[in-house]
This record gives sequence, structure tokens and C-alpha cells, in this order.
Amino acid sequence: MASSDLPRHVAEAIRSSPLTDVYVFGRRGPVEAKFTNVELREMGKLENSVPQVDAAQLPDGVGDLPDRDRRLKERNLATLREFAARRADEKPKRVHFRFYASPVEVLGGDRVEGLRLERTRVEKGRAVGTGEFFDIACGVVIAAIGYRADPVEGAPFDGDRQIVANTDGRVADGLYAAGWIMRGPTGVISSNRADGVAVAEYIGADFPQGEKPGRRALETLLGERRVRHVSYADWKKIEAAEAANATPPAPRRKFVTVEDMLAVLDEAAARSVG
Ligand SMILES: Cc1cc2nc3c(=O)[nH]c(=O)nc-3n(C[C@H](O)[C@H](O)[C@H](O)COP(=O)(O)OP(=O)(O)OC[C@H]3O[C@@H](n4cnc5c(N)ncnc54)[C@H](O)[C@@H]3O)c2cc1C
Repeated sequence: MASSDLPRHVAEAIRSSPLTDVYVFGRRGPVEAKFTNVELREMGKLENSVPQVDAAQLPDGVGDLPDRDRRLKERNLATLREFAARRADEKPKRVHFRFYASPVEVLGGDRVEGLRLERTRVEKGRAVGTGEFFDIACGVVIAAIGYRADPVEGAPFDGDRQIVANTDGRVADGLYAAGWIMRGPTGVISSNRADGVAVAEYIGADFPQGEKPGRRALETLLGERRVRHVSYADWKKIEAAEAANATPPAPRRKFVTVEDMLAVLDEAAARSVG
């Protein structure tokens, strides 16, 4: 981690952690799991940690799926099969992928001591409780369940998909959507960038005359409302300060609060006045 830009205190906490076993529970099965194959395979290449999968939880095939989904699911299943063959003592730490289990209660008194889960089965794509429960001992619980979008006033909301209803990013005349509000909680930061480019192209096509005042008007409005905003040039200063603070081989030392980032700009402004 020394060559990454992980903040030092975070790297230190990870390095000195007594943690040996991480359990990743999915409420549904390996075929329904949403990881990309690249992400999943990375789990098999960690320096200090070996993935663990119970082969009994892996189905023989992925079932009836559209071609594109099927290829991904088949790759994931093949990766999970490789993981199922890995020895638990190969590395000092383990990541256990467990499926068909839904958390129902965090156990413990003043601190977390365990997690109670209900075994599930998948019916019509949804996890359904079986009434059979089991506990695991653990010291930390990290929840990553579900996704809900905030409806945006004046924009049509599709509550089932938790998106602003749109056709390829077009919502209504002069109204567009990009990212997760456009397509739901899938994809990484670069996927959203492509949406952003597409929406910028729509706007360019829809307003060819430049009849709207654009950025200038936005900056005036932000000024009137006294909203502090960070320009691209400002962001470059923050990035340069992060690079300057780095201890090689780390490429930069990241600021961890917005206040610290803004302080860089305040200091630069004070210097230029001084
Ligand atoms: C746990 C987790 C880990 C992830 N890890 C990675 C990773 O390592 N790498 C990676 O590339 N991607 C990762 N992702 C995915 C990445 O976070 C998303 O792809 C990305 O944040 C989606 O961008 P977005 O602009 O669509 O939405 P968001 O980033 O959610 O931005 C939407 C913004 O709109 C604001 N907003 C909401 N309503 C209003 C309103 N009415 N008015 C004004 N503002 C509003 C919100 O406050 C928010 O700031 C991760 C996602 C999760 C959940």
C-alpha cells in the first residue's frame, strides 16, 4: 500500500489490524451477485488474503439468461469455482464469500460480537427467508444493502427502478439524467463519465445557438447565493498540494476532509494577496 495514495492513518490501521477473516454475505446466490468479473478475480490475487467459497453453494450452471448477462455470470461462476479450490491456510487472512444468507440482527452488548443471519432461497429473483437462522462471531459489521435514490422535484421518478424516468439520458425538453439516477446503481465512476459525455452532446445539439448564458450565469448565481465553489484551476491546486505532501513511493497524500482541501485554496489566496 506504500505506493498507493491511501491516507497514511488508514494504511496504518489496516496494517496493524488483528483482522484475519472477512465474511461477505449475499442475500441471494452466486448467479444473482452483482460483482464484475474483474473485481471478483482481484480477490484471488491479494497478497495476504485468500478467497474462500463453499463449492456446495455453487450451481452447475447460470440458468436461462440473456447472452450478455450469461457470459458475465458464467465467468463469475468459473472464478468462484477456482476460489472454492483454494486452501484456507494459503495466506494469513481469508475472505469468505457466503451466499443465501440475510442478516437479521447484530449481536452483542456494548460492542458488536456477532451477526445473526437467516438462510434464504431465491424465488423469482428475490431472496426469501427459510426460517432457519445461524450466527457468526465478528467484531465489525459493514452494511452494503440496497440503494435508494432521492427523487428530484419536478422530474418524473420511477420508484421501481429508483431512477428518474428517462430514455438514454433524456428526461424531458431541456432536462437530462446521467449516472446512477439515469440507470440505477450499476457501474463505476468511468461508466458515469460516458453518460456525462452523452448528456453534454445532447445539450450541445439541443441548444446549438448557445441561447442560454451557461457557466457565466451559474457563477453569477453561486456568487449571489454566496455558495463557495471549486473551479478546475482550484482543483489542480489541491491536487498539486497532495502531490507535494507525498512521501515516495506514494504518488500523493490525500486530504481526508473538505475543510483541509479548502484550506489549501485559502492559503494560496492569502499568499497571492500577501
Ligand atoms: C460502497 C460503494 C463503493 C464504490 N466503490 C467504487 C470504486 O471503488 N470505484 C468506482 O469507480 N466506483 C465505485 N462505486 C460506484 C460509484 O460510487 C458510482 O458509480 C458513482 O458515485 C455514481 O455517480 P453519480 O454521479 O451517478 O451519483 P452520486 O455520486 O451519488 O452523485 C449524486 C449527487 O447528487 C446529489 N443530489 C441528490 N439529490 C439532489 C438534489 N435534489 N439536488 C442537488 N443535488 C442532489 C447527491 O448528494 C450526490 O452528491 C462505489 C459505490 C458504492 C455504493
